Amino acid sequence: MILRLWPGTTQEDVSALRAMLEREALRTFLSPETARPIVAVVDKVPEALARDLAAHPAVEQIVHPQGEWRLVDRSYRDEHSVVNVGAVRFGGGEVVVIAGPCSVEGADFMHETAGRVRAAGAHVLRGGAFKPRTSPYSFQGFGREGLRQLKDAGEAFGMPVVSEIMDAAQVDTFRDFDVDCLQVGARNMQNFTLLKAIARAGKPVLLKRGLSATVKEWLGAAEYLAAYGCPDVILCERGIRTFETATRNTLDLTVLPLLREWTHLPVVVDPSHAAGIPSLIPPLSRAAIAAGADGVAVEVHPRPEEARSDGAQALLPGELARIVADARVMAAAIGRRFHPGPRRARSGQGERAG
Ligand code: PEP
Ligand code: MN
Repeated sequence: MILRLWPGTTQEDVSALRAMLEREALRTFLSPETARPIVAVVDKVPEALARDLAAHPAVEQIVHPQGEWRLVDRSYRDEHSVVNVGAVRFGGGEVVVIAGPCSVEGADFMHETAGRVRAAGAHVLRGGAFKPRTSPYSFQGFGREGLRQLKDAGEAFGMPVVSEIMDAAQVDTFRDFDVDCLQVGARNMQNFTLLKAIARAGKPVLLKRGLSATVKEWLGAAEYLAAYGCPDVILCERGIRTFETATRNTLDLTVLPLLREWTHLPVVVDPSHAAGIPSLIPPLSRAAIAAGADGVAVEVHPRPEEARSDGAQALLPGELARIVADARVMAAAIGRRFHPGPRRARSGQGERAG
C-alpha cells in the first residue's frame, strides 16, 4: 500500500505515522519525492488498520499497486525517476543511446569501437566481459581483463560504460574498474541472490526483461533492487519468447505505455536482441522512441563477420549514425530532446554528440 500524504504534511506528522505503523510490525519506506511525503507500507496491512489509515488526516490518497511491488510503483513518486549513469541522464525527458559490441574483444578493438560509436553519437558504451552463452563451448568473455578494456575505452572517449554482471561474487571486480552501470541480463532477471548483492553495489542497474517474464515479474525484480538499496534502476525491454521464429525474439512495445502507467522508472529498448536482424533495428528504434522509450541500446561492431558473439545482429558504426539521426527527429516529433551527451571527453579524443 502507498500512502500519499497531503503536500505540506510536517516531518513530525510523517514520523508519527511511520512509528505507528512500525509498532504494528509493518515496514515502511519514505519516498525521495520532495513535492509531498509518500510512504510505502511494504507488508500486508490488516483491514482494520487500513480503514484507520483511509480516515487519517495526513493521508490524501491510498494506492494499491497492480502487483507485488511498492517502491517502483508509479504512485511512489510524483515525477518520473531520473537515473544518472556517469554524466548521462536516463528518464529526464531526453533520449539516450547505448551502443557497443556484444562482447569486449580486446583493448585495441574496444578503443576503435568506442571511438566509432562515440563519433556516431552514442552516449553510453556497452560491452560484455562475462557472457551468458547458450553453449559452454562459445566465447565466454574476457572477464576481469574485459572490464578493464571496456572502462579504458569509455574513459578515452568520455563515455560511461555498462556491462553485464552474472554472479554476486563479481561485484568487487565491477567496483575495481568503476563500471558505471551494472547490467542484469535476461537470463538472470529473477536471480534474486544476484539482485540483492548488486543492489548494495552503489551503482545504477540496467535490468533486462527475462526471456519469458511478465511485466509483473519484471517489476517484482526491480522492486528487489529498490528494496535492497538500489533505487537507480533502468528497465530494458529486449524482446520476449513467442511462437514466432522469423525473428530472434518479439519486441514487446506494448509495455512502454503500460510501464509509464505502472512505474516511475526509466525504460530503454534493445531492438538488437529483440530482432536479431540488423535491417530491422532502425525501424524498431524509431518505433521505440515514438512509443516513449527513454533510450535505445544497440549492438555495434566495426567488422560483424569477425564478432565473437552476436555478429549476425551487429550494426556497422555508419548504421548507428543513421539511428542516432533518426532518434533526434523522433525525439523532437514527440516533444523530447536528444541527450546532449557526456560533457567532456578526456584528452580531446572523443567527439561531442552535440
Ligand atoms: C547482451 O546484452 O549482450 C545480452 C546477452 O542480452 P540479453 O540478456 O538481453 O540476452
Ligand atoms: Mn549480445
